[in-house]
Amino acid sequence: MSELDVTAAMSAAGHEQVVFVADRPSGLRAVIAVHSTALGPSLGGIRFWCYDSEADAVRDVLRLSEAMTLKAAAAGLHQGGGKAVVLVDDPDRPRSEASLRAMGRAIDELGGRYIAAEDVGATQRDMDVIAQETPWVTGVDEAVGGSGDPSPVTAYGVVHAMRAVCAEVFGTPDVADRRVVVQGAGHVGAHLVNMLREAGASVAVADANADRAVDVARRYGARAVDATLALTEPCDVLAPCALGGVIAAEVVDRLQCRAIVGAANNQLADPSVADALAARGIVYAPDFVVNAGGIINIAEEFVGYSRDRALARAAGIEQTTGRVLAAARERGVTPETAARDLARSRIEHERLGDGRWRPGTPTAWTCGEPLRSLRPPHPG
Ligand code: NAD
Repeated sequence: MSELDVTAAMSAAGHEQVVFVADRPSGLRAVIAVHSTALGPSLGGIRFWCYDSEADAVRDVLRLSEAMTLKAAAAGLHQGGGKAVVLVDDPDRPRSEASLRAMGRAIDELGGRYIAAEDVGATQRDMDVIAQETPWVTGVDEAVGGSGDPSPVTAYGVVHAMRAVCAEVFGTPDVADRRVVVQGAGHVGAHLVNMLREAGASVAVADANADRAVDVARRYGARAVDATLALTEPCDVLAPCALGGVIAAEVVDRLQCRAIVGAANNQLADPSVADALAARGIVYAPDFVVNAGGIINIAEEFVGYSRDRALARAAGIEQTTGRVLAAARERGVTPETAARDLARSRIEHERLGDGRWRPGTPTAWTCGEPLRSLRPPHPG
């Protein structure tokens, strides 16, 4: 299944614009998808990946950019959803400067309609080279106003989502005395284990790299568990913080948790899993609501980055999650459906005049001034 009717797919999912980029001298091949600018410029990561076919790359960028629209809207940000994929043979091999510069020029031509961030395969160096061609890029060095590693802010948001879920399921937001299993001891997982332990929770952690789990467990007073058992370990809350697609239909019957609240993107293997979880009485907090700390952190760059303000805004994920769970309960739908509807309703009611952001148009954070550069000048 490699053929794809691109404009039909765009039209079906509501994409505004898809830009195909090829630069013969450097060999760059990339696709930039702007799903929605209804709430402001679209933001999303650049993924460097080896796809089986170009059609697979386009499918991926269409799906990922649409998810970014939902994530930004649910988080209350004045941004839309976009994404870019760069087709490479080996994501681990450093990219040539020429190809990154060509990518930067392609992003620049969109005049801010697509703002780039790091995604799978991207490195700080990639972003720094791209930034030599365009201002419309985040994830640059902190010394020039970048927001740095987002994972502590993402983890902080997950803890707050967990508080809302605990209030719903156990009648108290307090995570002390809760048993939490964290799958993935990477950037977000390690911070999450630390924060949960500081809050008094009993935590087990697993990683495909067993040494990493043991190390994080030892550092923060948690228990390391075998990665193959993480999903089925008895607990109050399961926190998937590794890869997407881990909550598959065949896993649902074996889960021994009351709730799922984690940072991984696209945790459900397919949409029907949300119903299967609800049927088992397991509360699933939608990942795009729970893990919005990452983009909330980036959004703070636009007004002059402050880590304290980013953390304060990420704490608001508790309220958003609470609203989603309450709406789901009242309407008798899954939290996933309630969260999607919440995001769509924001887009409908707060959309810009004709539903599209154009280069130079003011945004919510420019106080009426045209948006011409991404970050305020950095002191020093
Ligand atoms: P990371 O690469 O630092 O960590 C992922 C960890 O998961 C690694 O240690 C890896 O060994 C482990 N892992 C992989 N497969 C596993 C398995 N089957 N079982 C157990 N462990 C496994 O990534 P990260 O930055 O911590 O992000 C984790 C997830 O959260 C990803 O899905 C990412 O897309 C998502 N996310 C991250 C951020 C952020 O701020 N970093 C923001 C939003 C969403």
